Amino acid sequence: MIDYDYLKPKTLDEVFSFLHRYGEKAVLVAGGTDVMVNIRNRKIAPEALISLRGLEDLAYIKKDDDAYHIGGLTTHRMLETSPLAREELSALHDGASQVGSVQIRNVATVGGNICNAAPSADTAAPLLALDATAVLKGPKGTRKVPLKDFFTGPSRTVRAPDEILVEFEIPVVEGGFGSAYHKHARRKAMDLPILGVAVFLKMDGDTIKTARIALSVAAPTPLRALEAEAFLRGKSFSDEVLKEAGRIAARETSPRDSLRGKAWYRREVFETFVPRMAARALERSKKR
Ligand SMILES: Cc1cc2nc3c(=O)[nH]c(=O)nc-3n(C[C@H](O)[C@H](O)[C@H](O)COP(=O)(O)OP(=O)(O)OC[C@H]3O[C@@H](n4cnc5c(N)ncnc54)[C@H](O)[C@@H]3O)c2cc1C
Repeated sequence: MIDYDYLKPKTLDEVFSFLHRYGEKAVLVAGGTDVMVNIRNRKIAPEALISLRGLEDLAYIKKDDDAYHIGGLTTHRMLETSPLAREELSALHDGASQVGSVQIRNVATVGGNICNAAPSADTAAPLLALDATAVLKGPKGTRKVPLKDFFTGPSRTVRAPDEILVEFEIPVVEGGFGSAYHKHARRKAMDLPILGVAVFLKMDGDTIKTARIALSVAAPTPLRALEAEAFLRGKSFSDEVLKEAGRIAARETSPRDSLRGKAWYRREVFETFVPRMAARALERSKKR
């Protein structure tokens, strides 16, 4: 029988005090959709589960003058049904809306998706393309880590064991921007992606002012295709330019062969879908 203490703190301070008491024998649990699978598969055997579900005030999607603020306990379903996310954080909306099933999305959180650090996490590439920063809170205080520096390997991040991911901050961009995410999977529902492609564009007329391209299952951690981004910067939008960006982005990846897809196949899909997501981001930028 699998046995553990189930702790239900109501405040962050209570979370920190439980973490202090149990140390590495405790595991934080938000929606539990990764944690419970890992316990069942005996990948982890915690003595205590510290539930974050009592921290209801960490579930929100807000915007102020400088940034969008997404609480770490925000569920994928909250993002899926948020008009603000759909209109202004479209890539994240695309990603969150495709996680698992509606039952999973109702409980699974964006903080859990990122802290679990699976290379296939459906919100990782969108958040990277949107230039998100993770806000971590621990007993010693708060620190902000740009998401591009957050992942250190499969299932590994810079988060210290006594830190909670409380928020994502995404900079506000004025006018002429759009973003899109493609989840490439074999089935439409309940399948982890073979890979993911997210593109953010800020346009100045027909000229690309800023491009951010983020790819998942492209390397051990989600990846920004920086050379392809630099190639696009300042270029006028055309099919040829996009195709070349796709070729450059694909060369920046180092995918591996796995049951879900061979490395050569992944590279070809990256090459195809970077231009397509850029075109979709452009379409969306025209509405803003
Ligand atoms: C049937 C099924 C289908 C799925 N389909 C998909 C899919 O299509 N795409 C996809 O990306 N994922 C999928 N998943 C995986 C999972 O649902 C997601 O990764 C989900 O977002 C995890 O969120 P959670 O709140 O359930 O995390 P939990 O399982 O509660 O936690 C995951 C990890 O993050 C840590 N953690 C959680 N919240 C915090 C926090 N705020 N601060 C610090 N650490 C934290 C936990 O300690 C744990 O290590 C699927 C899972 C299942 C069971």
